[in-house]
Amino acid sequence: MRILLTNDDGINAPGLYVLEKIAAQFSDDIWICAPHEEQSGAGHSLSLNRPVRLRQHAEKRFSVTGTPTDAVTMGLRKVLPAPPDLILSGVNRGANLGDDITYSGTVSAAIEGALAGVRSIAFSQVYSKEDVGEDVSFDAAETWGAKVLRPLLDMPFTERTLINVNFPPRPAAEVAGVRVARQGFHDYARGSLIESRDPRGFPYFWFGLHGIEHTPGHETDLEAIADGFVSVTPLHLDLTHDASLAALRACYAR
Ligand code: MN
Repeated sequence: MRILLTNDDGINAPGLYVLEKIAAQFSDDIWICAPHEEQSGAGHSLSLNRPVRLRQHAEKRFSVTGTPTDAVTMGLRKVLPAPPDLILSGVNRGANLGDDITYSGTVSAAIEGALAGVRSIAFSQVYSKEDVGEDVSFDAAETWGAKVLRPLLDMPFTERTLINVNFPPRPAAEVAGVRVARQGFHDYARGSLIESRDPRGFPYFWFGLHGIEHTPGHETDLEAIADGFVSVTPLHLDLTHDASLAALRACYAR
């Protein structure tokens, strides 16, 4: 089984090494093509107004000076000798849950894989407010990663779908299990907006992630993580709101 690994935290991110350890339990044909620098929050953006550079770090280890979508595209079109059987993205440093997944470079890399017809899975390690900076632990992801991945490989692959996995912010031994849940939602009281002045006195603004009020319950990924489970959510790329189709058609038929 040929596996392509990528992420949005960059080629040197600790979570990518965790992902390598997970993937190594399934294959020895592992290729890495990841962004050269951190691209968290890049969503599904594709670089169109500047060139990207491909850099080789080892035999099957490459980085791309671009977004996660650029990295997957380069992996599929240029780096790998043949299409992979599996694309894994992550392990992201931080949650990709509920409404936030459209910001996610990690999930978007898996979306790009799904569009290319390859089974694709995004992995993210949620961390608590106390664990910040260098202190974020990937213990739950490292221990539970293979357990979560194995059954997914036995499932038939459905075109244009992907799987979003989040590991809860607790030690592996305290993880409650795996729960399949739907995508959640939260109040759009967005995180913090930090406002200050740079060393030369000019104002700047910086989006923060803390303070986002999630709305758990409703059997969602957010609730699964709050309950200490690994959340597994199937996603698909058709964003059509079926319930509105008939009403909209009626609108224009008048
Ligand atoms: Mn990230």
